[in-house]
Amino acid sequence: MKIPFVSFESIHNEIRQDLDMQFQKTLDSNWFILGERLEAFEKNYAIFSGVEYCLGVSNGLDALHLALKAIGVGSGHEVIIPANTYIATAFAVSYVDATPVFVDASFEHYNIDVTKIREKITKKTKAIMPVHLYGQPCNMDQIMKIAEEFGLYVIEDNAQAHGATWKGKLTGSFGHINATSFYPGKNLGGLGDGGAITTNDPILAEKVMMLRNYGSKKKYHHDIVGFNMRLDEIQAAFLDVKLTKIDKWNHARRTIADYYCKHLQDVREIVLPGIIANASHVFHLFVILADKRDNLQKYLSNHGIATAIHYPIPPFLQPAYDTLNIKQGAFPNAEKMAKQCLSLPIWPGMTEEMVVTVADSIKGFYEGES
Ligand SMILES: *Cc1c(COP(=O)(O)O)cnc(C)c1O
Repeated sequence: MKIPFVSFESIHNEIRQDLDMQFQKTLDSNWFILGERLEAFEKNYAIFSGVEYCLGVSNGLDALHLALKAIGVGSGHEVIIPANTYIATAFAVSYVDATPVFVDASFEHYNIDVTKIREKITKKTKAIMPVHLYGQPCNMDQIMKIAEEFGLYVIEDNAQAHGATWKGKLTGSFGHINATSFYPGKNLGGLGDGGAITTNDPILAEKVMMLRNYGSKKKYHHDIVGFNMRLDEIQAAFLDVKLTKIDKWNHARRTIADYYCKHLQDVREIVLPGIIANASHVFHLFVILADKRDNLQKYLSNHGIATAIHYPIPPFLQPAYDTLNIKQGAFPNAEKMAKQCLSLPIWPGMTEEMVVTVADSIKGFYEGES
């Protein structure tokens, strides 16, 4: 049995007719940018997220960038981000000429270690950008408390956690302004690039609305220097269809995660994802820490099982950040994760039989090793 790392076949077959219909409708509307499909999706995604405002934008990186712009982060400022994240979180900070300040991950949940945030706050700190990595919510009580104490903004990077909750409240609804991505492989993904910001603040919402569209509220009137960072009508139409299924698909991911935990619980050489009180994980990724990770990955690949590494090099050790001059050993947990993490296939449509195949191969590898 060949098991791909991600397959869209099952979810797309489920909604193929609706997607086809949305394509026809958009084609016939002769209106492709900033129209009623985007407005409808924004309204529905705001309701889904439990916030007042949603604004669709071009992708997740641009959403983070616009969120930072909207709150006025700029040159000379610092933004606190986790040491273990996708590079986009750091790049967004660099785009506004601010400095990313890293905080190590906790092995409890792989998210930012909230006990290490305070020591990184300086006079230059403007915001904290927690990332709900792999679909696991951060401790938002602690993060909001610290932000309030020091007068900082919070921007959640919710790219991997559509539908996740912390104490029953949705991620992407805690921060002052939050960003998400609808990259095809995310839990809620378009058929191309896309992203959004969510907020309860009408002033920040209006700023983003202008920034994403050439700094303009009225056509050919430009109040500020803006960008072209809009979400297309066709993507909004597709995303609106997929939004009706997200709870079902997240449930499917959780069920597959349970299968993995059941069938892998006795494997001593791996660490399974942490179960955190108060958090409802949506398993964008199912990430284990594994002994002899690279050999295991090769072995699985030889047995037809595709896996991935999120991420092999943490942002602070990337050549792009040589200028920050952060040495190896600065964030030991993030570095250990980079060496040992392995993402197993998880996608709606995967069966328990497939999970057993993956689990048996992992067991086979370690039995052959000993
Ligand atoms: C995917 C992702 C982004 C960037 O989203 P794009 O739409 O690819 O630009 C940002 N942050 C995290 C944590 C992500 O996983």
